[in-house]
Amino acid sequence: MSDPAYLAAKARKLDESDGLRAKRAEFVLDDDTVYLDGNSLGALPATVPGRVADVVAREWGRLRIRSWTESGWWTAPERVGDRIAPLVGAAPGQVVAGDSTSVNVFKALVGAVRMAGAERDEIVVDATTFPTDGYIAESAARMTGRRLVAADPRDLPAALGPRTAAALVNHVDYRSGRLHDLPGVTAAAHAAGALVVWDLCHSAGALPVGLDEHDVDLAVGCTYKYLNGGPGSPAYLYVRRDLQPRFDSPLPGWNSHHDPFGMSPRYEATDGARRGRVGTPDILSMLALEAALEVWDGVSIEAVRDKSLALTDFFLECVAAYVPAGRVEPITPAAHAERGSQVALRCAGAGEVMASLIARGVVGDFRHPDVLRFGFTPLYVSFADAHRAARVLAEVVSAP
Ligand SMILES: *Cc1c(COP(=O)(O)O)cnc(C)c1O
Repeated sequence: MSDPAYLAAKARKLDESDGLRAKRAEFVLDDDTVYLDGNSLGALPATVPGRVADVVAREWGRLRIRSWTESGWWTAPERVGDRIAPLVGAAPGQVVAGDSTSVNVFKALVGAVRMAGAERDEIVVDATTFPTDGYIAESAARMTGRRLVAADPRDLPAALGPRTAAALVNHVDYRSGRLHDLPGVTAAAHAAGALVVWDLCHSAGALPVGLDEHDVDLAVGCTYKYLNGGPGSPAYLYVRRDLQPRFDSPLPGWNSHHDPFGMSPRYEATDGARRGRVGTPDILSMLALEAALEVWDGVSIEAVRDKSLALTDFFLECVAAYVPAGRVEPITPAAHAERGSQVALRCAGAGEVMASLIARGVVGDFRHPDVLRFGFTPLYVSFADAHRAARVLAEVVSAP
């Protein structure tokens, strides 16, 4: 059915029965914009500005140095890590927040290679990876004297063998929105005696990850996409509890020393998730993130996933109904088991099409060379938004 009245009514009905509908009011959004770029930069949670103002004026301005203890600054990386943990299916004590995803990819991958043993001389990297992971994997391979092997995540089990030290894989492909098989690939890596590092940038906060359940070794992710932590907010590192004593960080800074204020010239690693820390944490960003994570209180990630799939299904239905045949081609898999929380459409002139969409209040993004990306963040995107985005897209690509 391509009848606008039917689809508009369907959007209304879906919005009325949406259990997460009330969450939208916890974000700073404007009603004339459809924001479908939360997979690049999540919207601002309304609690953040007040919290940041208090951190600056009171904790820094008045308490100054006392805040490292009295305001809990020193322990913030572990505390924020434990707040992220349930969203990625991790028990407490295994996630630490800090640094960028790129830096955490380096720590995790070199750490994994060091745990794998000297006879394993290959690192396998996701051939479709977000570029930074690939650059760092190449450098990590060079530094550790391993050979780098690229493999499509769908063919990964076949690429893993007795020579594999570790594999670095993106959970969701940033370009196509394809969801990779985390349980299957992790099990295949373990069957080959290798470790696996998952990059959760495009899955954490959008779908259940189940790190503990699936026995993942190490994982990293950012917090400024689906976790709404703000521009450049700290990333995180997960090291499974039983691996922590063997995790030999390639960046052993004083913050991961067992006695940081002993100022010893000799490094002795601390225990637990803290072992992933490096230097002084970025407190303003860290505490903005901590406030941003409050929007997840009482939210089940399964409910988020259900709404995400319903939103992307509905958007695809509206696109098929409104956009003239042949103008766009979905590259996001139709199968739910292979779909993240975005819809990517291949489109001629995608760069100009996206600029026109943004000018008309529909904000997605463009990925080289011909991909329109629309991110669906279930906490604040409505079915009416999905409907409007598809209608505006149809207008833009039909314009002479
Ligand atoms: C967004 C993203 C990154 C970003 O890394 P930064 O160090 O935060 O710039 C890395 N990897 C993947 C898969 C991403 O989607």
